[in-house]
Amino acid sequence: MAHLSAYKFCSVCAGNLREKNGHLACAKCPFVNYQNPRPTVSGLIMHGDKILFTRRGRDPYKGWWDFPGGFMDWGEHPEETLRREIKEETGLDIAVKRIVGIYPGYYPAKFDPVHILSIAYYAVAKTDKVVPADDAEEGRWFPLTKLPKKIAFNNHARILSDFKKVLWSAPDIA
Ligand SMILES: [Zn+2]
Repeated sequence: MAHLSAYKFCSVCAGNLREKNGHLACAKCPFVNYQNPRPTVSGLIMHGDKILFTRRGRDPYKGWWDFPGGFMDWGEHPEETLRREIKEETGLDIAVKRIVGIYPGYYPAKFDPVHILSIAYYAVAKTDKVVPADDAEEGRWFPLTKLPKKIAFNNHARILSDFKKVLWSAPDIA
């Protein structure tokens, strides 16, 4: 399925962008504005029998609860992204246990909405002392039976459902 961004000019030569074969392409040079899905990493971080959510300090979904994580940087392995983002947003050191799954989602943004691909990992925090920073304004531990009501992004229900199956089927990995 094609998606055209709101961009009007070429990032290389400032020429006009025009639709060509489902993408915006520069009329003057070979640049094509491909709108490929963008991978993000989400952490299902446990400490004891509780799971960590962070409250988003920025839009989209400002004020909603979220799995901590974020967009991958160039050249990173997703597990490195997870450790880096968790450290930045919560100050926590984690041990990554296993991948839970890969989930398509939608990241709303006024000019440039993104088809994201969330790579969800199960990880365990070494302590429960959260120091929120960066995109997160608060971090809180929730019992799996009493999760926050407003959870951000349209793929969170599927992620949580699969994560609970992982915990129930292989409790020994905790
Ligand atoms: Zn160009």
